[in-house]
Amino acid sequence: MKQFNNFIGGAWIAPDSGEYFENRNPANRDDVIGRFPLSGPTDVDRAVKSATRGFADWRSTPAPARGDVLRIVGDIMATRKEEIADAMTREMGKPLTETRGDVQEGIDTAYYAASEGRRLFGHTVPSELRNKWAMSYRRPIGVAGIICPFNFPMAIPTWKMFPALVCGNACVFKPAEDVPHTATILVEILLEAGLPPEVIQLVHGTGEEVGAAIVEHPGVPLISFTGSTETGSIVGAVCGRMHKRLSLEMGGKNAQIVMADADLDLALEGALWGAFGTTGQRCTATSRLILHTGIHDRFLSMLVDRARTLKLGDGRKEGTDVGPMISEAAVDKVERYIDIGQADGADLLCGGRRPDDGKLGNGNFFEPTIFARVEAGSRLEQEEIFGPVLSVVRVASADEAFTVNNDVRYGLSSSIYTRDVNVAFRALNDLDNGITYVNAPTIGAEAHLPFGGVKQTGNGHREGGWQVYEFYSETKVGYADFSGTLQRAQIDNYLGAPD
Ligand code: NAD
Repeated sequence: MKQFNNFIGGAWIAPDSGEYFENRNPANRDDVIGRFPLSGPTDVDRAVKSATRGFADWRSTPAPARGDVLRIVGDIMATRKEEIADAMTREMGKPLTETRGDVQEGIDTAYYAASEGRRLFGHTVPSELRNKWAMSYRRPIGVAGIICPFNFPMAIPTWKMFPALVCGNACVFKPAEDVPHTATILVEILLEAGLPPEVIQLVHGTGEEVGAAIVEHPGVPLISFTGSTETGSIVGAVCGRMHKRLSLEMGGKNAQIVMADADLDLALEGALWGAFGTTGQRCTATSRLILHTGIHDRFLSMLVDRARTLKLGDGRKEGTDVGPMISEAAVDKVERYIDIGQADGADLLCGGRRPDDGKLGNGNFFEPTIFARVEAGSRLEQEEIFGPVLSVVRVASADEAFTVNNDVRYGLSSSIYTRDVNVAFRALNDLDNGITYVNAPTIGAEAHLPFGGVKQTGNGHREGGWQVYEFYSETKVGYADFSGTLQRAQIDNYLGAPD
């Protein structure tokens, strides 16, 4: 069985513990992908010291040259797209169409980052005094701790590391324990593209050991975390105490609203893709469907008919619509919510169980599940399940739909299907989310726009697009006074110095 290592100090090395964990294919647990390091705080410490050395040089590399490395990264990823997608599906389950999209998002992010190396704009603004210049410009921050979830094994690390690198920072990367192979491929590509080896460190292991050690390390001034709101709270508490710069992207409970005037065929495709794509394990997954009473029964029966036809299976096989969940523990969690929903009186219309099909018995499969008559405010409707479970709520008006959408602790994505332009724009205005789609599902972010959520989904930062570059760089202001005299801001002005 292939054994993989950490990348620390410019070399692929074993963890201090000498221990490894197995990474298995969630569609077939007999298929072992490899053994990966179970690292600990001493490995993290070595990685941070090396990254600090890497940063010293990288920060003074011209930003356009840093961007050129990312351009080559994008080229290599494009050449290896199919192979990376296959490896990703093997280790985390989603079908190849989706993993190809995940790699493409990395490619798009690389090319955006490459061009951003020639911008990284500051401002030059007029001074209030004569013969004086005032300008703002960006500086890198230092070693960035990058902690990622399992569901977008390529896209999310690239969202974080590519802008961090273009801004001149070094990275210590801790991937989710479920997707260490894709992370290894990404680091190999960065090195092949010419990134100086000490600028990137890869430390495998658990969140409690490796993740926590990165967050607590005094040599890491900046943490970018994507994962559950619960883990984000732990990370946030440490960063608050240590005054670290922190970007949090966390859980969601996203809703699709379908109004009575909607194109129902279009809304149906959106609901199926939003709820059951990535087996419901997207932060932007549609887990609530808010149906106007005028189309409720008709739409529900269309939806259940189609959901029953979705084909569960190995994501690497042609014809698979829905892959496995990431782990047995994730399936157990979904099963607990099936019990909760039934105990609360919701109607289980389809799914709600592991498939009978013996061929799927070795994988973490769960049938696409739809609950109707779900009460707003119930646990099924409020809590992030992170699986193929859709809860349907009936409403009588747009106002009621907006209230249901907003009355959760999360605020990532939302969607509305309607032909009424006024209702569509009211939704864009009034839905409390970082993203609202009109006549499209809750999923499908584009790499060049800011991505993130409000309330307990985030802490005000955004990934993607131009905005993330603010997070990975410090704004500094420079003044140059060439008047040859002492000019006092706010005291001396164009009218001349007071007597
Ligand atoms: P998770 O919180 O279990 O783990 C995320 C990462 O944090 C992993 O690398 C894990 O090892 C690490 N970690 C765990 N404990 C830690 C600790 N004490 N200190 C530091 N790091 C620690 O999340 P997951 O199961 O991998 O991913 C699913 C969650 O991620 C869902 O809640 C989903 O909504 C969220 N998510 C959010 C976004 C977004 O952009 N908002 C995107 C993808 C996923």
